[in-house]
Amino acid sequence: MNKGTLYVVSAPSGCGKGTILAEVFKRNSNVFYSVSATTRNPREGEVDGVNYYFLTREKFLELVENNGMLEYAEFCGNMYGTPRETVEKKLSEGFDVILEIETKGAKQIKEKMPEAILIFILPPSVNELRRRLNKRGTETEDVIEKRVNEAEGEIRQAYDYDYVMMNGDLSEAVEDFMSIIRASKFDKTKNNKIIDEVLENA
Ligand code: 5GP
Repeated sequence: MNKGTLYVVSAPSGCGKGTILAEVFKRNSNVFYSVSATTRNPREGEVDGVNYYFLTREKFLELVENNGMLEYAEFCGNMYGTPRETVEKKLSEGFDVILEIETKGAKQIKEKMPEAILIFILPPSVNELRRRLNKRGTETEDVIEKRVNEAEGEIRQAYDYDYVMMNGDLSEAVEDFMSIIRASKFDKTKNNKIIDEVLENA
C-alpha cells in the first residue's frame, strides 16, 4: 500500500495557521491532524485530546524517555511534542498527516524523515502578528511580547522549508495551501512507479 505523505506546517504564533488548516481539513478527508502533547496550560475552550494532550512535565519527559515522541522541543517555557505511534500508524495506512509544530521540531522531522514536506506560513509583517495576537486576546501582554520576539527567529528558519507562503488574505492562503498539497502529489519521487507502469505497457 502507498504510504501517506507527512506535511509539517510551521508559522509564528498568531499567524492564522489554525484557521487555514481548519479549512484545509474540511476539504480533505484523507488528511489526518496529529494532536500534539504539551506541558502548557489549556486555554479557555481547549479540550484535552482534541487541541492537545495536556501533560505534566514529568509525564511528558517519561514519554520522551520511552521513545514515544517523533520530535519535541521547548517553546516559550513549555514543552511540545508529537506522539509517535498514531502518526506512524496513519502514514502506514496511507493517510496524509499534518503536524503543526514549531521550527526546532520541524528540523528534527526533516532529519529523520527527509521525504516530509515542510511548509512555512509567513505573516504579512511582525507588526501585523502583534496586532493579531492582541486581537485574539488569549495571552497576557508579556506572553505576547515573548511570542513576537520568538517570531523573528522562527521566520529566519523559513529559508530551510520546502514551501513558503504568506497569510495575508485567508481565502487566498487556503487556496495556496491546497495548491502546495496538490503539487506535492506530482513530485517525481512519488511517481517513478507510474512512469515504470506506463513504460511497461508501451
Ligand atoms: P501554542 O501554545 O500557541 O498552541 O503553540 C506554540 C507553538 O508550539 C506553535 O508554534 C505550535 O505550532 C508549536 N507546537 C504545537 N505542537 C507542537 C509539537 O508537537 N511539537 C513542536 N515542536 N511544536 C509544537
